[in-house]
Amino acid sequence: MKPGIHPNYQPTTIRCACGAVIETGSTKQNITVEICSKCHPFYTGKQKLVDTSGRVDKFNRKYGIK
Ligand SMILES: [Zn+2]
Repeated sequence: MKPGIHPNYQPTTIRCACGAVIETGSTKQNITVEICSKCHPFYTGKQKLVDTSGRVDKFNRKYGIK
């Protein structure tokens, strides 16, 4: 690899709004996300997020989850 022309790929953490922290590698540092596989209702089967955009409600309606 030539020095200076490649993004600096290095270990970092993705921090979710639910508190989950995922170790990964990226050219970016300290990534934050609103939803992840740990808190998405499709995986958890329950809702524990404060849903500001209505995405969770929309999802629940689509699949008939009360
Ligand atoms: Zn999460």
